[in-house]
Amino acid sequence: MNFQLTEEQILIQKTAREFADTELAPGVVERDDKKIWPKEGVAKMAALGFMGMMTNSKWNGEGMDTISYTIAMEEISRVEASAGVVMSVNNSLVCYLLEKFASDHIKEKYLKVLASGNQLGAFSLSEPQSGSDASNMKTTAQKKGDHYLISGIKNWVTSGINSDYVILFAVTEKGVGYKGVSCFIVEKGYTGFEMGKPENKLGIRASDTCELYFDSVKVPAENLIGKEGEGFKIALATLDGGRIGIAAQALGIAQASLNASVSYSKERIQFGKPISTHQAIQFKIADMAMEIEAARLLVWQAAWKKDQKQQYGHFSSMAKVFASEVAMRASTQCVQIHGGFGFMRESGIERLMRDAKITQIYEGTSEIQRVVIARSIIK
Ligand SMILES: Cc1cc2nc3c(=O)[nH]c(=O)nc-3n(C[C@H](O)[C@H](O)[C@H](O)COP(=O)(O)OP(=O)(O)OC[C@H]3O[C@@H](n4cnc5c(N)ncnc54)[C@H](O)[C@@H]3O)c2cc1C
Repeated sequence: MNFQLTEEQILIQKTAREFADTELAPGVVERDDKKIWPKEGVAKMAALGFMGMMTNSKWNGEGMDTISYTIAMEEISRVEASAGVVMSVNNSLVCYLLEKFASDHIKEKYLKVLASGNQLGAFSLSEPQSGSDASNMKTTAQKKGDHYLISGIKNWVTSGINSDYVILFAVTEKGVGYKGVSCFIVEKGYTGFEMGKPENKLGIRASDTCELYFDSVKVPAENLIGKEGEGFKIALATLDGGRIGIAAQALGIAQASLNASVSYSKERIQFGKPISTHQAIQFKIADMAMEIEAARLLVWQAAWKKDQKQQYGHFSSMAKVFASEVAMRASTQCVQIHGGFGFMRESGIERLMRDAKITQIYEGTSEIQRVVIARSIIK
């Protein structure tokens, strides 16, 4: 057992931390308030190699381990969780899926530009009637010779507007449930493919989320990923890894809450002394610090198990449930420690609480994660 990060991992942490503090922090409150997508930040993250961190260098990625990815995700999300989710989707839902399941032709054509961060990907599974029950989708893909015709509506697609390509799940065979779902890569320019307007969200407001509309969109047959009917298994296997990224995002929000609480409590004077000297405040800070350490161990353990090619599905679920609940508690207490100031938009403190909430919902809700964990324990 070794809890020490490697020299390379420490360097990534330092690079991501400095980048987030100097490049993402300026304007973060305004971008959240006005729903401004972090275009410059994402471009700089690409230049740093943060958009295809775990992808092999053969496909223009950085070939790093999952622990390095979680460390960078935590640091980015500590400052701007919206930038964190853009990074997370491109790395763990798009590049990972393509590298593991797509043909060399697809990797050559799409993965290389996506892993370098020159172009951006989105992952589109959810539909209005199928969220947690994701295989209950209505979007269809009909084979017509050398292409498929795709029709349907997808919703809540992160980076749906700012991405260039979308990993899309659609039904190729009706009446057989999840066994009829297939996976495709779809280009934004294809005729009949339209985007909805950006959703107005509680948190991660600087990231874009939208509906996608497919009206008999002609997709080349070679854009099928894996075989027909394998789509749902591909989605689930990909989301197992994706949850580690979201857990790291939650960890970043929790750490930001602790950092802000410590510095404000040392500055804010009430009853003639800093509020950090009141035991009620100290206990909140102690609880936050304790829970964050525990969450980080769960996140790193899930990442390590993935890197060791061990079964890690329910460990990533544990990491996500725990880290997201820690993020909610820490950010709520952070607002409390800041008093009325923390409730004000310009403080940037209430944003942490709003951003934390989504980590309990997307890539599988906390309830669904508990179902996954319980199933793996009660065999
Ligand atoms: C900002 C945002 C970004 C998103 N980005 C993406 C994306 O990029 N790609 C994508 O495909 N999707 C995306 N989603 C969709 C997201 O993954 C779903 O919202 C999530 O899976 C939950 O589905 P639902 O919202 O339909 O909730 P529902 O499934 O309707 O669930 C409602 C409630 O019921 C509970 N519930 C449901 N089933 C059970 C059960 N069996 N046992 C116990 N409780 C249950 C849930 O936990 C939840 O509390 C995004 C969503 C949001 C809000």
